[in-house]
Amino acid sequence: MKERTLSIIKPDGVSRNLIGEVIRRIDGQAIKIVAMKMILMTKQQAKGFYAVHEGKPFFESVTDFMSSGPCVVMILEGEDAIKRYRKLMGATNYKDAEEGTIRREFAKDIEKNIVHGSDSRETAEFEIGYFFNKLEITGN
Ligand code: GDP
Repeated sequence: MKERTLSIIKPDGVSRNLIGEVIRRIDGQAIKIVAMKMILMTKQQAKGFYAVHEGKPFFESVTDFMSSGPCVVMILEGEDAIKRYRKLMGATNYKDAEEGTIRREFAKDIEKNIVHGSDSRETAEFEIGYFFNKLEITGN
């Protein structure tokens, strides 16, 4: 079924010039990009985005990282887009990620793992609404 997911090229992906690489892989999957922009989150905004992780040992560090530089946020649309984009990203820890995935090929750290992708329809809805308003989404 056609669905939408939120993708982020994290600050390490942007600073390492991997924007084109990530987009090329998305395009290769016939997943459509229906919204895209570059943002620089404040610490507070990063905390709001990762609110589900509040209280975990890596919360301070991951929100520092996410607010340390610009990110590219995108909405992806397609059949099974949530699962398919997560497959393209690979496991959270690059060491566990399958060969050929973005994280396996480029990540150097469990935290600095290049990309984010929503993990369910419910989170996708929250995450898309966190960054985009209706006017910024094409194909509405
Ligand atoms: P994701 O959905 O695969 O991005 O993974 P999670 O939602 O579990 O975690 C969110 C983000 O927090 C990950 O992408 C990492 O950047 C970071 N993270 C997750 N687990 C750890 C950890 O054990 N240590 C550190 N330092 N960061 C972590």
